[in-house]
Amino acid sequence: MTFTANEIRKALNDGEICAFYQPLYDTVTSKIKSSEALARWIKPDGSVISPFFFIPVAEESDLIMDIDWYIVELVCKTLVKQEGSSRHRISINFSRRHIYEENFTEKLSAIVDSYELSHKLIEIEITESAMVNDAQKILEWINAARSAGFRIAIDDFGSGLSSLQFVKDVPADVLKIDKSLLSQNCENEKERIVLESIFNFAHRLHMRTVAEGVETKEQLAFLRTCGCERIQGYIFAKPMPEADYVAICRLDKNAEEPADILQLQSPASAVNLLMGVIFRRYPLVIFSNLTRNSFYMMAYQNFTSTSCPSAGVFDELIMHGAETMYPDDKEAFATTFDRENLIRDYEKGKSEVRLVTRQLGDDGVYRRVETTVYYVKSDSSDDLLTITLCDNLPDK
Ligand code: C2E
Ligand code: MG
Ligand code: MG
Repeated sequence: MTFTANEIRKALNDGEICAFYQPLYDTVTSKIKSSEALARWIKPDGSVISPFFFIPVAEESDLIMDIDWYIVELVCKTLVKQEGSSRHRISINFSRRHIYEENFTEKLSAIVDSYELSHKLIEIEITESAMVNDAQKILEWINAARSAGFRIAIDDFGSGLSSLQFVKDVPADVLKIDKSLLSQNCENEKERIVLESIFNFAHRLHMRTVAEGVETKEQLAFLRTCGCERIQGYIFAKPMPEADYVAICRLDKNAEEPADILQLQSPASAVNLLMGVIFRRYPLVIFSNLTRNSFYMMAYQNFTSTSCPSAGVFDELIMHGAETMYPDDKEAFATTFDRENLIRDYEKGKSEVRLVTRQLGDDGVYRRVETTVYYVKSDSSDDLLTITLCDNLPDK
């Protein structure tokens, strides 16, 4: 089945292109959280043509841009029909051609505003393969859309041309992991390692994760252990017409007696929540290996946040830290957290080392900081490891 651009354009003008919706579910609670709009061509005889047969042709010219903008209008109309808690964010696929479209963000804002909808309800999906060329242009495009309040998802991550190097610099909110990375039952050890690393990578960069194309219970069980937040796949629902989507959102909302989250929670997601609490409580969390003289910042939102590298040599970190201390506190800081001294304290049986100092912030103001080094043990290493929590204390 092949179509020409003219046939597709005619279908668009005749209103035969429409949006189907596929819900995304919360991995732990199995409730609908958002959805993706997927173009379909409905022929007058009622047959449904998959985008596979017309999107690639449309992609060859600016016709794809007209289709995408048309889908934006349809999505807004759907959102207007939904109300209250049955209304969820909808993500829309945008061809890479939009990256070069002038005033893209203004145009999207104008359409969404004309329906009096919040920009937060719209997520922009851009496929990872669009990210290979012209990094600067893409970053500008994404930043503009994000500052207007739209969410950004990187689609089809892992489908081929991924550049971790580049994705790490993209300020995206969501990473959608391509279905090609998931085998039927996720039982291959190497495949699991690759997936676990991707989820880890995304979470460290504060991106939410979606697994696409989830079809089996085994895949779902494995994804739960990875802390993957959202599931999109036939295991829960296929893409469906608007009326069905609106109806299941309403039902999902009315479903009585939500299950107790504590009964459903996988250990990984519970640990993620706990980490969230720790990162909220302690703006600076450092993981260090005293034996190897290395460190990295697990969280770094302290008031000195622009002045220190986020990974490197432990001795240099302490030297750098001492430089930012109030003159009277410099020596105490450098001695207490000197690596040799910390190792000696551990050997003497201490389980933690704590010190309060006054530290200079980027704004030129000294603040009281409590630094606590906890010795920790890893099953996989004999090295002496520590987790350091830094707390900003109130002024006296
Ligand atoms: P995509 O954005 O990666 O969308 C996900 C695709 O995976 C959809 O295919 C969806 O139906 C399919 N899928 C979801 N769950 C499962 C599953 O459990 N198993 C399997 N085997 N497949 C699953 P669909 O709807 O055929 O769309 C194909 C592609 O066409 C989309 O991939 C997207 O790249 C493109 N596309 C669709 N609509 C639009 C549009 O409005 N604009 C643009 N630019 N591209 C679109
Ligand atoms: Mg997509
Ligand atoms: Mg995809």
